[in-house]
Amino acid sequence: MIRDSFRILVVDLGTGRGNVMMLEGRDSVAGGSGLAALLFTKYGYPERPWNDPDQPLIFAIGPLTGYFPLMSKTVCAFKSPYHDQYAESHAGGRSALALRFADLDALIITGKAAKPSCVAVGSRHLEVKEVHYLWGLDLSATGKMLRGMFRGGGHRSILRIGPAGENGSAMALINADTYRHFGRLGSGAVMGAKNLKAIVIIGDGIFALPDGKAYAKVFQDVYTQVTATEMMYKYHNLGTPANVASLNKLKAMPYRNLQKTSDESIDEMTGEQFADKTLLRNMACAGCPVGCIHVGYVREKFMEPNQYLYRQVSYDHEPNFAVGSVLGVTDPFRILSLIDVTEKNGLDVMSAGVAMAWATEAFEKGLISEKETLVPLKFGDAKAYAIALNSLGTAENDFYRLLGQGTLKAAEQYGGQEFACVLGQEMAGYATGEVFFISQALGFRHSHLDSGGYAYDQKHDDKDVAKAVEFLVQDEEERVLLTSMVSCLFAREVYKGALLNDCLASLGYQNLAGDMKGVSHRIQRLRWQIRLATGFDPHSVTIPKRFTQVVTWKGPIDQNYLSELKEAYSKRILDLAKQDEHA
Ligand code: SF4
Repeated sequence: MIRDSFRILVVDLGTGRGNVMMLEGRDSVAGGSGLAALLFTKYGYPERPWNDPDQPLIFAIGPLTGYFPLMSKTVCAFKSPYHDQYAESHAGGRSALALRFADLDALIITGKAAKPSCVAVGSRHLEVKEVHYLWGLDLSATGKMLRGMFRGGGHRSILRIGPAGENGSAMALINADTYRHFGRLGSGAVMGAKNLKAIVIIGDGIFALPDGKAYAKVFQDVYTQVTATEMMYKYHNLGTPANVASLNKLKAMPYRNLQKTSDESIDEMTGEQFADKTLLRNMACAGCPVGCIHVGYVREKFMEPNQYLYRQVSYDHEPNFAVGSVLGVTDPFRILSLIDVTEKNGLDVMSAGVAMAWATEAFEKGLISEKETLVPLKFGDAKAYAIALNSLGTAENDFYRLLGQGTLKAAEQYGGQEFACVLGQEMAGYATGEVFFISQALGFRHSHLDSGGYAYDQKHDDKDVAKAVEFLVQDEEERVLLTSMVSCLFAREVYKGALLNDCLASLGYQNLAGDMKGVSHRIQRLRWQIRLATGFDPHSVTIPKRFTQVVTWKGPIDQNYLSELKEAYSKRILDLAKQDEHA
């Protein structure tokens, strides 16, 4: 399976047929993010809307997938219902390894099925199955049914959508193997628009590992580093909520729709509190020895006097903040219950929670009423949020349908743009300062993982625009190489220059190893070119007033610095897209 070309399966839901093809370009775009971008240039329609049946839904893995630890992610690329532009979302679970065992570097879904369907693919297998009986089911019930229909756990990956994806919500996710998600920017709605309830990838092939000592030696080096470092201990021990206590101390935790950036009640939802009270077990994506996935539990009384049921729910800093502190809910069990109801509907928790925070403030200010929200919204009222999040997932009325298209779209109709916590999309859980706000607002995926803007804020209190923008551009370039391999970004301190070079060389990818800088720069440029071709204009991005009212450890946000950063980063993005190949 180590080859210089890509092996791609294109499935046309309109005909129910698939076509395997080989594509050149390994030395140029590597895989993952780079391959997805290359495939969009061939199969995408920049001028047509996201829900045009011909638009592709792309899943791509990289050259190191399956060969090294934490090379565990799949890149999903699509035209997004959130902004009708090119987008990427990444997830782990078993999806990447299943694609590798199915002998596919990428899977592309085009067309629209006549009836609700499920696609199952393997190394020598393609089936498009009508599943009208799954339409309308939540993620949990859908998963249960699919696991019964497609046997073979372990090497099998199940990607599925819930009601939010079926009703076209721009916050709809694609769930990957229960505890991971292609969360942001509405990939679930792309599946829904194609009448596609699920994709089952059956990793039924085998692949040989390289002969000789070189590969075994590099693998051992990587394994030692990922299991021995302090960073990996942190991810396994408390997981991403480990940062909550320090973010709160630093005045960087969004609280009650970012009306504050710290509060003593946030001490109830630290990583330590979640572990002490709710943690059941750790899990890992396939091929990862770290196991950062923390699974807690929620318990519900369903009958008197003492009949309970319980469910397992995974948690992380991002969903925790989005249905926790930003809604004024800090009890770990209540947070897990809200994650559970949101995900069962197939909604991205980060987007939905932050949208709900806007709705709460709009309700308090009288811009909307119970006529819209169906239940009175109040910060801290988890019971009301459970009902409201369910209504958002099912698009219960016009208000929730509109809110599901994005907070700013609802704010355009009802007012309250100034307190919408939107930075390109609903904000991530870092109120660290100017650099992060600009990096998320303008970043390629509008993700806190596009570049380390939140970390930069925590280390720098100077206001050097050129230095900050250079950091964002260089950091994105480094990350895009990793998301083309496709590595979990938690391993970014391990997979650096020389080691990444050794990994590629040990598999026989000498050309890639010898040109890593050139490859990452090329992919970075290609992705921006596609983004601009599908309508992105960095100058048109607005930063809502609420972000300018934030106080961090550095003091009040400096509006001049914020504006200058935005201007300079916009210019760099446009320049990046313009640069020619040999510049
Ligand atoms: S560190 Fe966590 S998210 Fe990353 S591959 Fe391992 S289990 Fe998956």
